[in-house]
Amino acid sequence: MSGRGQIFVLSGPPGAGKSSVAARVRRDLPELAYSVSLSTRQPRPGEQDGVDYYFVSRPEFERRIEAGEIAEHVEIFGNLYGTSQKVLDRALDQGQDLFLDTDVNGAEALRQRFADGVFIFLLPPSRRVLEERLRGRNTEDEAQVRDRLERVRYELSKAEHYTHLVVNDDLDRAVAEVEAIIVASRRRTERHRKLLAEFQAS
Ligand code: ADP
Ligand code: 5GP
Repeated sequence: MSGRGQIFVLSGPPGAGKSSVAARVRRDLPELAYSVSLSTRQPRPGEQDGVDYYFVSRPEFERRIEAGEIAEHVEIFGNLYGTSQKVLDRALDQGQDLFLDTDVNGAEALRQRFADGVFIFLLPPSRRVLEERLRGRNTEDEAQVRDRLERVRYELSKAEHYTHLVVNDDLDRAVAEVEAIIVASRRRTERHRKLLAEFQAS
């Protein structure tokens, strides 16, 4: 596995703050590749195609699944979301670490393939705060907010499978914690590689 990049997966219930944290990590750790997912949902105000998601139609998404171009995918809230196989292969084959934002099922599929991955679960400070943030985001109507709130229990039931859990109370603190996990893990991996290389060269 030496020379191969590592994956860092961020999950958490809808409204936990994954997109907010991911945007900051992308900015602060530019050497980390970011997996832009494909999605059939409509862009939210301010979201850009190719930056936040590759926004594609359902037939196009299904064609890509058939063609083997999607590494993992789920259907949530009436839309398809998935990781591009090419994005995953390109980063890891080049030895580049890759950051992904997926739901818990996507994370499970990735865990099966990448046992050395780092899986971070983002937890809001309370149910009340989560609901306030979801409503405050103002990007979904009432029915969509309720769909997302119903999903919270399921996502939380998978939290114990994650290597790390970060509470997103204060955003700056949560970002610092996620970045510290990433940096520490990369140092550890680098150290292991160096020690192995030294041994092999001896
Ligand atoms: P997710 O991607 O997990 O669904 P978002 O990143 O869209 O969640 O965050 C949901 C809402 O909560 C957004 O309006 C975001 O600006 C806000 N938010 C995220 N983290 C915090 C925080 N620590 N404190 C206050 N508001 C936050
Ligand atoms: P949103 O519509 O709020 O951007 O995302 C909805 C859910 O889709 C979130 O739980 C997010 O983590 C998940 N998601 C986004 N991209 C992917 C992906 O590529 N794979 C999977 N499995 N889930 C994703």
